[in-house]
Amino acid sequence: MPLTDSIHRAAVIGAGTMGAAIAALLANVGIPVVLLDAVPDKLLPDEEKRGLTLQHPAVRNRLVRAGLDRCLKTSPANFAMPEFAERVTTGNTEDDMAKIADADWIIEAIFENLDAKRQLMAKIEAVRKPESIVSSNTSGLPIHQIGEGRSADFKAHLLGTHFFNPPRYLKLLEVIPTADTDPAVVAFIKDFAETVLGKGVVICKDTPNFIGNRIASLSGAFASNTIIENGYTVEEVDALTGPLIGNPKSGTFRLLDIVGLDVAGAVGGNLYDLIPGDESRELLRQPKWATLRQAMVERKWLGNKTGQGFYKEMKGAGGQREFWALDLNTLEYKPPAKVRFESVGKAKDVEPLGERLKVLVGSDDRAGAFVWRTLSFSMAYAARRVPEIANEFYPIDNAMKWGFMREMGPFEMWDALGVAETVARMEADGTAVAPWVKAMLARGCASFYQRAVRQAHDGDAVGYYDWQTQSYQPLPSDPDVISLRRLKAQGKELAANESASVVDLGDGVLCLEFHTKTMNAIDQHIVEMFQTALDEVAKPAYAGLVIGNEGENFCAGANLFMVAMGAQQQQYDQLESTVARFQSLLQRIRFSPKPVVAAPFGMTLAGGAEIVLACPRVVAHSETYMGLVEVGVGLVPSGGGIKEMLRRVLSPVMRTPQVNPQPFYGKVFQTISQAKVSASAHEAQSLGFLSEHDRIVFSRDRLIGEAKRTVLQMAADRYRAPIASKSVYAVGRDGLAGLKLAVNAMRTGHYVSDYDVAIARQLVNVIAGGDLSAGQWVDEQYILDLEREAFIELCKQPKTVERMWGFLQTGKPVRN
Ligand code: NAD
Repeated sequence: MPLTDSIHRAAVIGAGTMGAAIAALLANVGIPVVLLDAVPDKLLPDEEKRGLTLQHPAVRNRLVRAGLDRCLKTSPANFAMPEFAERVTTGNTEDDMAKIADADWIIEAIFENLDAKRQLMAKIEAVRKPESIVSSNTSGLPIHQIGEGRSADFKAHLLGTHFFNPPRYLKLLEVIPTADTDPAVVAFIKDFAETVLGKGVVICKDTPNFIGNRIASLSGAFASNTIIENGYTVEEVDALTGPLIGNPKSGTFRLLDIVGLDVAGAVGGNLYDLIPGDESRELLRQPKWATLRQAMVERKWLGNKTGQGFYKEMKGAGGQREFWALDLNTLEYKPPAKVRFESVGKAKDVEPLGERLKVLVGSDDRAGAFVWRTLSFSMAYAARRVPEIANEFYPIDNAMKWGFMREMGPFEMWDALGVAETVARMEADGTAVAPWVKAMLARGCASFYQRAVRQAHDGDAVGYYDWQTQSYQPLPSDPDVISLRRLKAQGKELAANESASVVDLGDGVLCLEFHTKTMNAIDQHIVEMFQTALDEVAKPAYAGLVIGNEGENFCAGANLFMVAMGAQQQQYDQLESTVARFQSLLQRIRFSPKPVVAAPFGMTLAGGAEIVLACPRVVAHSETYMGLVEVGVGLVPSGGGIKEMLRRVLSPVMRTPQVNPQPFYGKVFQTISQAKVSASAHEAQSLGFLSEHDRIVFSRDRLIGEAKRTVLQMAADRYRAPIASKSVYAVGRDGLAGLKLAVNAMRTGHYVSDYDVAIARQLVNVIAGGDLSAGQWVDEQYILDLEREAFIELCKQPKTVERMWGFLQTGKPVRN
């Protein structure tokens, strides 16, 4: 049966935490969405006062409006731009079901109740168009039961699509087909979710709580028992369950406070009855933990939403904010206490994570015991669930990493710790080890993953142990997903130094990869490798260059420490020549005869942003946080940042006669003087950092592959470099006077310090093009020279030096 080619229109029913946020995700990728919620059965006092009845549209749509409003206020933001909410049409399930008739995908996200979901499916069936896909966002109800009573066509198009909260930011999407789901529907949703929504899809069996929440519920229950039985404190547990073991910063209890004890409880709530065959299910009924939870719920200590949970914000003796942790025995909050464990002291700086875990589990203090007990339970439990919840083990690793932002999944950790050694220890502890794991060792297969290079990390795994054939099988790979790590393991690194590499992506495309330790900060090694990459790509064999990497952030700018040192030691000539070299490198990129495409993501700041601005084309990840933030450290952009903003924001409009330039150079001034950082790639576009020709893609995994595709397309289109001369408009003295007035007005309004004004004066001088007697077109180099002069002038100021050191020490801007 032919399926729709894509999702052109979608509908989401249930405008709660998940439904509204899923609607936002779809709106972000550009899909019009109909969002419906129920009709209230009672008037609010305020509605009564206003004389409204239950028939009034404002009342009938109250729940959906409230849901969308909440979604718009939530932080971090669900919508990439607030105006994307206009792509969402609201309504209710009594008056507006017809609105979903033309939806290609209908997602159910109402409260977790089987009967209500079933009834809703019947209503959907009455209006849906044939072949539209219907999915449920249930956290754990069996999908086949939700579809009971529906037609064969409906059931063939029904599946579970379990998003994780918040759906914009968490990569995992569990896709759950039933025995009746058409495999073409599953394949279509998987591909759509991966390529268009940027998700990591894990196909699950229709078993209770699917994969992520099943493993998390039981591991969580085991950990809670360990905590209670052994008297670990809230602070101790958070110190042991955060980044130390590859988990997010929040650790266990801070995360519970964020999620809310009620919501967290609901996930595991009905699990016990649904898993009679699970040998560990008694953990879910641990009486001491249940009593503690009950006491907290009764007191409404649910977490952040009720003002207190496992932590409570208090005022310290000096009036400072403090977070007091709950004593799990006495239910009293205690002042913060430093957590000290010898093993943590030894382990905390050990990299990579696998080696760190080895140090921890090998220690015999309380911390080592906790980490070993909880990790060994999770690893053994996950293995015992194969093939019950997943045919293979590796989807479990993906679910735990993508749904819970962990650095490694249980099997990756197990490999890192050494399977044979840990199996022996587990058995000595009395922990049941799945027979297939023992069979694996007996076959002489020492690890779950097969790696190209022997390393305690997952990135270069090429195969997995298949328990059925008792041999390693290749991990599925997608030709559109390019892994630099894997290419390098295959010998595709053409040149490298400690900060950057040139990697051959194949088909005549090279990639310049940054890999400096701190947020990919630019240093001289990166600049050198840039030159190597540009020299190499100029050879006839190559079509073009991608600038991209696999770090946590694209690039946080120049190495500020080097600038601060140079300024403090008054080495201004050296600083000036460094800036000049950086400028000419970026101009070399801009005018490269071969296409150069930047692939930014995450933090893309200052010099990092300027690299992107220099590229003729950009393929940005949707989560790109881009900004020219130099004023925060007492400087102005000097790698062509100001020049590019003038060229992109002001210059195009100046081709129209009689145009008033003020709003345009005003925008450049505001963006740079306020150090604005985009909260998404779409916002980067509206600020002028990205052009309308630049592409925004939602899949991080595909970013480099998409950038490569763009290089090849540009080459096929016979790319020509831009022409250098007279491409920037500078407004000169008239504009300068206006900009100075704006700066003075800011000062009088007390928005800024005297020194902010001094920096702003340097900035406006560059924006105006210095002291030009009238507005005119200038060469790019003219503005670059002004940028460089302003930069050096500011480096000479003690307050700039103070700002730089202050920022380096605290990570926060200094207001001096
Ligand atoms: P929620 O309580 O925030 O929202 C549910 C919404 O559904 C409410 O706005 C309610 O008015 C509406 N609703 C209830 N019955 C309805 C009906 N018959 N017709 C139309 N609308 C109706 O719940 P949530 O947290 O958004 O969860 C929704 C679903 O997603 C549940 O199945 C839940 O298990 C699942 N889920 C939740 C999370 C999470 O973290 N909150 C994560 C993944 C999955």
